[in-house]
Amino acid sequence: MQKTDVLISGAGPAGLILSIDLSRRGIKHILLNDRPEPSGIPKLDIANTRTMEILRRLDVIEAVREVGLPTDRPTRSTFKTSLSAKPILSLEPGFSDTPLVPYSSVDEFNRCIHQYNDGTLPLENNGIVSQMYLEPVLKKHAEQYPEADVRFNHSFVDFEEHSDGINASVKDNASGETYKVEAGYLIACDGAQSQIRSKLGIELEGQRQIGEMTSYFLKSEDITNADPLGPPWHCWLTNPELASIVISLNFEKDYFNVHVFGCHENAEETLLKVFGKPFEYELFKETHWFVNLLVAESYGTERVFLAGDSAHQYFPTYGFGYNTAVLDVTNLAWKLAARIQGWGGDTLLASYEQEQLSLGKTRRDYSGKGAQMVMTWQSMVKPDIFSNSGAGEQHRQELVQTIAATHPPLYESLGLELGFRYKSDVVITDGSPEPLSEEKDYLPTTWPGSRLPHVFLENGDAIFDRLGLGFTLIINGEDSDPTVKQFINAAVLKKVPLKTLTIDEAWIHELYEKKYILVRPDQHIAWRGDAIPATPDDLLNQVVGKNRLSKP
Ligand SMILES: Cc1cc2nc3c(=O)[nH]c(=O)nc-3n(C[C@H](O)[C@H](O)[C@H](O)COP(=O)(O)OP(=O)(O)OC[C@H]3O[C@@H](n4cnc5c(N)ncnc54)[C@H](O)[C@@H]3O)c2cc1C
Repeated sequence: MQKTDVLISGAGPAGLILSIDLSRRGIKHILLNDRPEPSGIPKLDIANTRTMEILRRLDVIEAVREVGLPTDRPTRSTFKTSLSAKPILSLEPGFSDTPLVPYSSVDEFNRCIHQYNDGTLPLENNGIVSQMYLEPVLKKHAEQYPEADVRFNHSFVDFEEHSDGINASVKDNASGETYKVEAGYLIACDGAQSQIRSKLGIELEGQRQIGEMTSYFLKSEDITNADPLGPPWHCWLTNPELASIVISLNFEKDYFNVHVFGCHENAEETLLKVFGKPFEYELFKETHWFVNLLVAESYGTERVFLAGDSAHQYFPTYGFGYNTAVLDVTNLAWKLAARIQGWGGDTLLASYEQEQLSLGKTRRDYSGKGAQMVMTWQSMVKPDIFSNSGAGEQHRQELVQTIAATHPPLYESLGLELGFRYKSDVVITDGSPEPLSEEKDYLPTTWPGSRLPHVFLENGDAIFDRLGLGFTLIINGEDSDPTVKQFINAAVLKKVPLKTLTIDEAWIHELYEKKYILVRPDQHIAWRGDAIPATPDDLLNQVVGKNRLSKP
């Protein structure tokens, strides 16, 4: 019997990022993947700003940027009636009144971000990188750590849960042999068809198969050359016969993903309709898939947890699939480490479900709303869209107005990406009313449960780079209060990893609202106050899931 602390089934983005995070926390684990190599399927294409902040924390961001959209390229999205037609609308830098983030290049963002150092912006701009390029980079990083035992071509087969952990059977696909693994925890990162979720009998809630899609992964120089400015990131094509989106996978090397709404059997005929005239292309893969808006009714048990697509499945609008998977595993990694290292309490892991399931449902609803928005403007398209007549012109104008009024939120959703808040037994509210949050703009706040607003310090350091691997107590202003010492001592006694960070900048104190901010290992705020409580033990116990404070 092989033994490990954590067994992860599935090395897609969720499993690989969990593996890297656990390794950095010194947690031994085995990561299994049934296929011999990363999937090579160009599914997701956007890592949003929050995901990129997390990848920076994991020290993998540069490698990810290297395989993504060149950092000097803006993320244009155009709308056309066919690939060979001129755009009827282009979303590009300057379109949005939100400074910098939507549509701008990473270089432009980096040049300006110090100028807008007011807490409203992320530390990192989006990363446009296809899953087929992302997974090998993450795999290489995961394999670098001695804590990780990464086993591709090993399939998770079955498990039994007991009070101290799980016993699993795993198949080595090369030899055909099955072996046993004993682990403290089992994490299901095994995707939408999760075997582990099925075995636990956890149902998915929401809408199933609300639409069908046909996707083509292809190479075409003609598509690259169809736009004099070079291929945009997204090119939305709509005509009375079919609607589709052409996604540029690497902007220079002619690789594209074409997603067509509906089920289409004949690839040649369908692609001819998409392009509007004969185009040369080499087709590598055709897939048919259903649109689901589903969230698991539970995120696991005491020893087994679901993360990523095993826990939720969305339509790609807003890009919430992968980006929520990253939040799942980021939330889970430090809690698993806390339990395994002995400083996390009995209720800490239960807070994973409290926090992520609620976020999962919110994002499912937004994803559905996004799908609806796209389908609404697509359904407006009538045959005279191609006509040079006055009626044709008027129709195009009406369509452009509708798209311009309804579509940009899918790209301009900084408020959703950064502004979500965790509400659970391990977050201590301070009795103040919950501040407003917006979908489009991110409104910085240190209201407990929120992500710490990013700022650059006077010396140019990003505050996120100064946080500890464990908890960080931010002290705004010089401090000689003996209660801080008591708090630090209490953390030492309880073996809770705690770093203190004193900041003496008045504007940051004002932005952060309170003198003390206790930041969790996942950069979310566990507690804030103008004084350390007289009983720091109680505070610490609650944020690590050891007991509950009475609510103020
Ligand atoms: C067309 C399309 C476009 C998308 N675009 C975006 C986007 O822009 N942004 C975004 O955020 N999301 C997007 N998504 C969603 C995104 O691809 C998924 O949310 C993401 O892949 C989830 O990652 P995961 O690791 O949870 O699951 P997966 O990527 O499905 O990985 C699961 C892994 O588990 C392995 N596995 C399964 N069973 C076993 C077993 N028994 N033993 C061992 N291994 C096993 C599989 O081989 C696989 O490698 C898109 C999805 C589609 C279909």
